[in-house]
Amino acid sequence: MKAGRVILVGAGPGDPELLTLKAVKALQAADVILADDLASDEVLAYANPAARIVHVGKRGGCKSTPQEFIERLMVAEARSGKIVVRLKGGDPFIFGRGGEECEAMRAAGVDCEVVNGITSGLAAATAAGVPLTHRDFCHGAILVTGHEREGERTDWAALARTGLPLVIYMGIANSAAIRTALLKAGMVPGTPAVAVSNATRDDERSLATTLSALPEDLARAGIGSPAILVVGAIAGLARAGSLSPPRATASG
Ligand code: SAH
Repeated sequence: MKAGRVILVGAGPGDPELLTLKAVKALQAADVILADDLASDEVLAYANPAARIVHVGKRGGCKSTPQEFIERLMVAEARSGKIVVRLKGGDPFIFGRGGEECEAMRAAGVDCEVVNGITSGLAAATAAGVPLTHRDFCHGAILVTGHEREGERTDWAALARTGLPLVIYMGIANSAAIRTALLKAGMVPGTPAVAVSNATRDDERSLATTLSALPEDLARAGIGSPAILVVGAIAGLARAGSLSPPRATASG
């Protein structure tokens, strides 16, 4: 029997035109696709029509499928000779548990390849017209989660001291606490902040505001998850109308 293998594929932020050629080839070669919720249907439309698609996000079952179950399924399918595509939103190695899954495959002796996707932090900033590096503003950017695991604490003060823009994933629910921490760290209340939800999808929305008004403006505009927050001077370059016409823009 031919040996199966696993390919962790980044589905990008949603717009299928942002898929890589490698991602499309992997989708077409797949026998089984284990898809996260963040991987859109338009992306799945590129899959091999004969592939079995298993939704392992919240959509597929009661809650999200437990991580060990997903990993066991990946191993079992690969061992039975299948080409298994594990399709993840954005990039598998950016807040995507790709590292854990690669380790689990290695431990099980299953061949595992990773195909990059465009991570939502980059896609959201671009959708709002915000370059994440700019010689006149910042010489780097920080990708950080706004949702720590139990026992983990982000040192927001240390991040603020770098002066680099913060690209915050999973930050909507904690936006008030993040504001408090950043203000306490000495960040100026008027620091520009941008939020983009569902970046590159038909229901994309964005909001340009300031750090001090961020949580209230998010609530007022009804901007919810999945969304990226960009906080820093560079976010001041966001312009209303920077999004393509059919997409709604809430100005804040
Ligand atoms: N691996 C993914 C991130 C998964 S963590 C990536 O590289 O993009 C889930 C978080 O990603 C969400 O809470 C949200 O902050 C962000 N996210 C994913 N897709 C998004 C999208 N289309 N628009 C805005 N944020 C998105």
